[in-house]
Amino acid sequence: MLEDIKTIDDFDFKDQIVLIRVDFNVPVDKYHQITDDTRIQSSLPTIQNIISRKGRIVLISHFGRPKGIPSQIYSLKFLTSFLSKKLKFPVKFYEDCIGEKVEKKVSELKNGEILLLENLRFHKEEEEENENFAFQLSKLGNIYVNDAFGVSHRLHTSITVLPKFFGEKKCIGLLMQKEFQFLKKFFSGKGEKPITVLLGGSKISSKIEIIENLIDFADHILIGGAMSYPFIKMKGGEIGNSFLEKDKKIEKILKNILDKCKEKNKENILSFPKDVVISDSFENTSNTKISPIDSIPNGWMGLDIGPSSIKNFCNIIEKSKTILWNGPVGVFELANFSLGTKSIAKKIAKVTEKGAFSLVGGGDSISSLKMEKCDKKISYLSTGGGALLESLKNKILPGIKAIINT
Ligand code: AMP
Repeated sequence: MLEDIKTIDDFDFKDQIVLIRVDFNVPVDKYHQITDDTRIQSSLPTIQNIISRKGRIVLISHFGRPKGIPSQIYSLKFLTSFLSKKLKFPVKFYEDCIGEKVEKKVSELKNGEILLLENLRFHKEEEEENENFAFQLSKLGNIYVNDAFGVSHRLHTSITVLPKFFGEKKCIGLLMQKEFQFLKKFFSGKGEKPITVLLGGSKISSKIEIIENLIDFADHILIGGAMSYPFIKMKGGEIGNSFLEKDKKIEKILKNILDKCKEKNKENILSFPKDVVISDSFENTSNTKISPIDSIPNGWMGLDIGPSSIKNFCNIIEKSKTILWNGPVGVFELANFSLGTKSIAKKIAKVTEKGAFSLVGGGDSISSLKMEKCDKKISYLSTGGGALLESLKNKILPGIKAIINT
C-alpha cells in the first residue's frame, strides 16, 4: 500500500528549500516548560538528515488550539532555543507563517540553516482546507516533507492541500516511515500470535469502527474504561451513573460487532471487565468499593477496572506476543482509580522485556507508562493518538493520500 510513497531518500536536498510539516504540538505546564518532548525528539532525525545533505529547512507546525487568533501562549517562539540546543546550532524564528516578510526570510536562508515559522493555526484557514492559504505556504519551499504523523488524519490545509502545490516534489519524513513500519504488523495481521489489542478511554465513538476491523486478525480485544459501558448496557447490565457516551449510531455498530464475532466464530475474542471500582463521586477522596460491572447501583459510577479484571487482562497480555494499547482502563488521573491502568502499563512493559512486540499510542496511555517509569521498555511509542486509531481502520490517512497523489 505504501511501498510506492516517496521518502527523503528520493531527493537531493543540496541548495533546496525544504518545507517540513512537523508536529511540535507538545504538552507544556503553566510555566511553558515542555512536560513531554517525545514529538520534537522524534522529528529531529529528518531535520538532521536534510541538514547534513545541505538543504535549507523551513519548519511549519501547529501548537494548541488558538482558533485563528494569534497570542503569546500559543506562539512557537519558545521552541527556538530548545531546538537550537537539541540540534547544536542556532534555529531562526519568524513571527508569521505566510506573507512577503516570511518569503524574504526564507530567501535569505543558506544551506544547512533552519527557520521555524509561527503557529499555522494563528490563521483560521489552516483548519479549513483553504487553497489560498496553501498557495501562500507553498511559496516557502521547493520540496514538501510531511513528518507530522500526529495530525495526518486531519483535513487541514498544511496536511491535505499544501502538498498539491509541489507536484512530484513531496515525500514523507523519517518519523512517518517509522510509524508505518511499526503499524505494518497490524495492517497486515502478520504480527506474531497471539495478537492482543487493548482499547480504553471514554469516547467509544472514536474507536468503535476499529473494533470491527480488528476482529479479522486479533486474537483478543480487551475493552476497558468507559468504553465498556455501552456493551454492558446493551447486554442488559445495570451501570448506575457510569459515564456513557450517547450517540445513536453506537448501538447499531455494537450489534454489528457482536454479529461479526459470531459469524467469524470468534465469540470469545472480546473481553470486558467483570468487576469495577465504583465511587459515589468523581473525586479522589470519594467513597469507593468493588462491584460487578453489570450491577452498579444508582448514584454510583465505575471509574476503574477491579482486581479480578486486572488479573484477567494481565493474564491475557502475559500470553500475548503482539500487543497494541490505546486508552486508559480507568480515570488514571486520580490516584484512587489508577491501579488498573498502571498494572496494565507494567504488565505490557514486562512482557515486552520477555520478547513480545508492543505498540502504544495516545497521550494517556503513554503518560501512564511514564508514571510507572516503564515507557522505555515498550517496543514503539507512537506519536499519534487519533492518527494511530485512524490507521487501524485500515484506511490510508488523508495526509498520506496527499503525498501519493500528484
Ligand atoms: P479518550 O480520550 O477516549 O481516550 O479518553 C481518555 C479519558 O478517559 C481519560 O481522561 C480517563 O480519565 C477517561 N476514563 C477512563 N475510564 C473512565 C471511566 N470508567 N469513567 C470515566 N472516564 C474514564
